[in-house]
Amino acid sequence: MKIFNNNLVAIIILVLSISQFIEAKPKEKFALVIHGGAGTILKKNMTAEKEAAYRAKLEESLKVGYKILSSGGTALDAVEAAIHIMEDSPLFNAGKGAVFTNAGTNELDAAIMNGANLKAGAVAGVKTVKNPITAARKVMEETWHVLLAGEGADKFAEEQGLEIVGPKYFYTERRWKAIQKRKSKEEEKYGTVGCVALDKQGNIAAGTSTGGMTNKRWGRVGDVPIIGAGTYANNETCAVSATGTGEYFIRAAVAHDISALMEYKRYSLIKASKKVIQKVGILGGSGGVICIDAKGNIAMPFNSKGMYRGYIKSDGKPVTLIYKND
Ligand code: ASP
Repeated sequence: MKIFNNNLVAIIILVLSISQFIEAKPKEKFALVIHGGAGTILKKNMTAEKEAAYRAKLEESLKVGYKILSSGGTALDAVEAAIHIMEDSPLFNAGKGAVFTNAGTNELDAAIMNGANLKAGAVAGVKTVKNPITAARKVMEETWHVLLAGEGADKFAEEQGLEIVGPKYFYTERRWKAIQKRKSKEEEKYGTVGCVALDKQGNIAAGTSTGGMTNKRWGRVGDVPIIGAGTYANNETCAVSATGTGEYFIRAAVAHDISALMEYKRYSLIKASKKVIQKVGILGGSGGVICIDAKGNIAMPFNSKGMYRGYIKSDGKPVTLIYKND
């Protein structure tokens, strides 16, 4: 009887200490970072209403992504959903608020990448797809290709059952005025959107969506749908989404270069991203990146006057930033 009691006590102690150990386990980390474009965004040119509208939309996007991640959803789902919010808003140069080309058309680019398996999908120059980020995801998941362009990409999106819209959908007075003036305020040229996320499973993903640059030559493709330039993700290093003068971001292979510095030179996320944005500046380009790694570190360097950006971590508190000194 005595032996039995001793064994029972030992078992109870063992169970208690195991449950304590389980409780002491650190919380699962997850985080999401977004951008809504970089450019000459100065407080002196901003009205209180405009600033509030941007912050509210950024916050909405962060919260939508958070909801997915906190309930155990994937980084890919969070990235796509967070980008949808910004694509559907006229505030950003993506989806609804896309800028016009020199031919008065709207030609949209988008890309998405899964850091867990290096799968990627992108579309370039689509004219009828309401949410190009979803078309990019369909390319990744439903074909063995990486990049579909022009009419073929529009047709593919339609076949996949995506929402198709007429050219009027992308008309916004603000962007139309910008193309009429040609020399629009620099601020009007920007507004690309992007998102990077880390999910509870430890996977990271990146996505970017844009209307390109105001007055771009029709047919021009920027950095956004070029995997390794405007968009990249690899669980071993980082997930990156860029915004800025795309031609320079292509030439500097920005997103992959950040990943490569981490992989081959063992740079930290901050050091690698700052270094590459510096390189873009030396070439003459302007803009920035948002980045995350599998440990949940984030970085958001830019060399322009401002960048709409924000992040949310497992504590659920959204942070939105616009200006350099925010
Ligand atoms: N990078 C985009 C492009 O060149 C534009 C932007 O981010 O504002 O198409």
